[in-house]
Amino acid sequence: MDQVAELGEWIAEGGVVVLSGAGLSTESGIPDYRGPSGSARRSTPMTYQTFTRDPIARRRYWARSHLGWRTIGEARPNDGHRAVARMQQRGLLDGIITQNVDGLHQAAGARDVVELHGNLARITCLDCGDRTPREHMAARLEAANPHFAAVASAINPDGDAELDDEQLDGFATVDCLSCGGMLKPDVVYFGETVPPERVARSFALVASARTLLVLGSSLTVMSGRRFVLRAAKDGIRVAIVNRGVTRGEPYAGLVIDAPLGIVLPNIVHGLARVPSGQMVI
Ligand SMILES: [Zn+2]
Repeated sequence: MDQVAELGEWIAEGGVVVLSGAGLSTESGIPDYRGPSGSARRSTPMTYQTFTRDPIARRRYWARSHLGWRTIGEARPNDGHRAVARMQQRGLLDGIITQNVDGLHQAAGARDVVELHGNLARITCLDCGDRTPREHMAARLEAANPHFAAVASAINPDGDAELDDEQLDGFATVDCLSCGGMLKPDVVYFGETVPPERVARSFALVASARTLLVLGSSLTVMSGRRFVLRAAKDGIRVAIVNRGVTRGEPYAGLVIDAPLGIVLPNIVHGLARVPSGQMVI
């Protein structure tokens, strides 16, 4: 049977938990690290320890992240995000877990998204825990750096831009307006652990799923791959739609290497022909 049609049948049965990665957002103009449209990043990703302990590295990070936000903050959901939201609205999804920090699932209308790695649209204070919108931070950084005119050579999906260090000298950062503490995007940095309650909630979703549907993730990092391993161990079927090779293939009953913005709308279109909750024959 045609693989897309078979995936359509699996989804029509309901009980689907989506696990999405950077590949879902490439069609929104946010490059993947490893997918066909991405280039391997030049600089190493920011770590929590470097960010908190090295003031120069932190200042450079904020300059790069400020530029990256101009791209990611303006990105719009694509047909893949919209298809996932439609599946949820039809009651076919039991959960959405995403490795992305761009908020595009919600922008497409999805609800109750588990953001494993956080969301770039929020800023958190490491001292008082205050959370503020990214727009406020962006406006404060613009005001503090009226002559900053650096241009990024590339943007990474974590919102970090590629920029030569000499372009970053003199960039001024700002502190928490409530307590004067250190501000950080509300995202999980490389080497930082995902908050345990998010991991527990994700494992619970996977454990009760009928199908784990991986969208746009090469499953290179254990942060996402562990859910596929658990599903396989528990006998839950796994489907993967991704451009290029993934490390989940040995565990998947279905693997489709095709653009998500084409495959997912096709499936939703097929679902529209039958009443909600019934199998496609
Ligand atoms: Zn604070």
